[in-house]
Amino acid sequence: MADSEDITNIALRRSIFYPAAEIYSNSPSGFWEFGPVGEAIRRKIIEFWRKEFVQKEGFVEIYGAQILPEAVFKASGHLTNFNDPIVQCKKCKALHRADQLIAEKIKEIVPESMSIEELSKLIKHHEVECPKCKSKEFTEVRKFNMMMKVDIGATGDIPCYLRPETCQSIFLDFERIYKTSRQTLPLGIAQAGCSFRNEIAPRNTLLRAREFGQMELEIFFNPKKANDFEKFSTIENNEINLMLSEKAGITPIKAKDAVEKKQVSSKMIAYYLAKWQMLWEKLGVPKEKMRFRKLADDEKAFYAAEAFDFEVLTSLGWIELTACNNRTDYDLKGHAKESKKELSVKEEGDSESFIPHIFELSDGIDRPVWVLLDLAFRKEKRGPEERIYLSLAPRIAPYFAGIFPLVKKDGLLEKGREIFKELESHGFDLVFDEKGSIGKRYARIDEIGVPYAITVDYDTMKDGTVTLRDRDSLEQKRVKAEKLPELLWKLQLGLEKF
Ligand SMILES: [Zn+2]
Repeated sequence: MADSEDITNIALRRSIFYPAAEIYSNSPSGFWEFGPVGEAIRRKIIEFWRKEFVQKEGFVEIYGAQILPEAVFKASGHLTNFNDPIVQCKKCKALHRADQLIAEKIKEIVPESMSIEELSKLIKHHEVECPKCKSKEFTEVRKFNMMMKVDIGATGDIPCYLRPETCQSIFLDFERIYKTSRQTLPLGIAQAGCSFRNEIAPRNTLLRAREFGQMELEIFFNPKKANDFEKFSTIENNEINLMLSEKAGITPIKAKDAVEKKQVSSKMIAYYLAKWQMLWEKLGVPKEKMRFRKLADDEKAFYAAEAFDFEVLTSLGWIELTACNNRTDYDLKGHAKESKKELSVKEEGDSESFIPHIFELSDGIDRPVWVLLDLAFRKEKRGPEERIYLSLAPRIAPYFAGIFPLVKKDGLLEKGREIFKELESHGFDLVFDEKGSIGKRYARIDEIGVPYAITVDYDTMKDGTVTLRDRDSLEQKRVKAEKLPELLWKLQLGLEKF
């Protein structure tokens, strides 16, 4: 298992991710850049989500603007509700999130619904200290709005905001997409893009940043027909790792039983929870390290009728990856009222029009990158040496294989390049390296999670075989170079084991 510094160290050493504008000493924290390796992993996570959840589920995808007018966030409730409770240390003037300070002191989750008065009381009651200077003197807790404002136009008189979540443009576009793409409910609209939150205390690198990627799915549905869901039968016997309360712990339950016992409100929602779990298993999260934690009434957003946090167990404990919220008709109702536009629909066979309800699977992108790196991190003692590698699922590894000519002379370099070109023409992401000892070259690709290495040596020149090496087991076998495209393809799809 990784410790908290391991991922940061490997990320900086191999430029997987690193601070934005790092050559300037006054750059604000909470902004991150992805280098070639990190961006490849990030892109592959999005592509796999797109394939499994957008295409296979028959959803559609949009790309919305990042800057939206004030009215949008008035309707969404962000202008009044999107606040963090903050306190200032009277001695060193440092600003802190009040709920986090308390949570760290009492080792318990502090509900989001807690008032600023209650938080002020708890800080005094538990004698919370300033993490910077250890003082116990704080100002009263106040609310801080996390929206980032931008002024648009030459005179700057059009108040706008950087979006704090990607889903708002999905809500705004729903009526247009519904009418122009000949869709019926349930209609899923997806978006992958950036969001911005003015976090008081960005921390743990990608886990709490001020600019971050999101991949969000908003499923518009008729609440009266949420149990009329044909696809449900394909997963009704799949187990979902539900956690109904801290006390009950994780209780895997068949989707059909979860619906029957009303632990999940409908077949439609149970279907997407089961499918979501399958997605993360395929991305490399072991089943026992994931759970859907049902939020208690004082924890969930005020508009949510039902909410599960999809969480994954990492070296830092359970981390929330996805908010799975039954948002009811809150969003469309709010935008219909503020914009004075009609946003209700009437489907064939319905006698009355209604405002669709929304179930969302709201996921980050950068956070999953960190979590999957953390789960993949391995450090092993091998004699006097330490071996560090990332056991990433091949489908999200930055490259699928490295190609190494043993030496540069006697035609091996040219032969290596020839094999590289051939495999590249089959669509494989590859890395070519001819410099340094073969052991060092293996170690370099192991560290960024490349599953296979192909070595071209003198035997290759004689009989056309190469050495294929497996990252995790370190096993090696000789295979004909001409068989590589088919073999790698099978390994990539999991049709063959090494
Ligand atoms: Zn202080």
